[in-house]
Amino acid sequence: MNWDIVSEQISNATGSTFKIVSAHPVSGGDINTAVRLQGRHQSYFVKLNNAALINMFEAEFNGLQEMANTETVSVPRPIVCGKIENQAFLVLEYIEFGAASKAADRLLGQQLALLHQKRQPYYGWHRDNTIGSTPQINSPQDDWLSFWRNNRLAFQLKLAAKKGYTGRLQTLGEQLCSDMNALFAGYTIQASLIHGDLWAGNAAVDSQGQPVIFDPACYYGDREADIAMTELFGGFSQDFYAGYQQVWPLDDGYKTRKNLYNLYHILNHLNLFGGGYLRQAENRMVQLIAEMT
Ligand code: ADP
Repeated sequence: MNWDIVSEQISNATGSTFKIVSAHPVSGGDINTAVRLQGRHQSYFVKLNNAALINMFEAEFNGLQEMANTETVSVPRPIVCGKIENQAFLVLEYIEFGAASKAADRLLGQQLALLHQKRQPYYGWHRDNTIGSTPQINSPQDDWLSFWRNNRLAFQLKLAAKKGYTGRLQTLGEQLCSDMNALFAGYTIQASLIHGDLWAGNAAVDSQGQPVIFDPACYYGDREADIAMTELFGGFSQDFYAGYQQVWPLDDGYKTRKNLYNLYHILNHLNLFGGGYLRQAENRMVQLIAEMT
């Protein structure tokens, strides 16, 4: 990567001259190469990937901006993104991580509830983005159930069929998609700004003890989808949930709907990684169908 050009773009974007002193790889990402770009007084976090994936970085840039504008929960400030020769790059504020605490967990719960209170009159977003490296379709719709059925479950099921997961998975998927409205009886849904990929690896605490979330796949949708994902792989404490409930309590039906929401991520994992996720997806569908009838 030509770091001098990246540095120049950072200087233009921030209005303050940035001169690179060193560039060190950062480990931990699933999809991109990450680098800490160190200047004399300032560091930046840079993600790199193939130039063909520039849309993915632009969507992440826009998502971080959308969340930052709410002034609810901290996210890394997006600085600039672009392409240099065959590489795409995304530059973010560098976050120095600090120690986790019960207070930070509770605050994250509270701040996430405030983020969820930022709403739109439609479900979706002004652009598509990605979930992992899978495209995520955000074409706006007025009806949440159609949005979830078409843009989320049916989209992943179609991808799965292309990968050869036909048969039982598809039959169960069709039944679930046609009957899922039963899970929403009496529930008022609102189009909340949600992070969209909120597993524990995308949340941390900064050196000031403030919670911070990153790597979003955001859109406007049912807030329960965000909370459901925090439970899918675990790692969020009781303090986090207590903080959330204090600001905006969840509806009782969440306990069942969370399985429908997490099915989307299980299908995405099936499409990305294959293997045991097939059994997990099918079992979850069987369980949901049984709960609906
Ligand atoms: P990927 O898009 O490849 O999944 P992530 O956004 O998850 O990458 O970042 C990879 C790792 O880098 C994270 O797990 C986290 O530890 C660290 N990280 C992410 N964003 C920042 C940032 N703005 N500043 C410092 N470290 C970060």
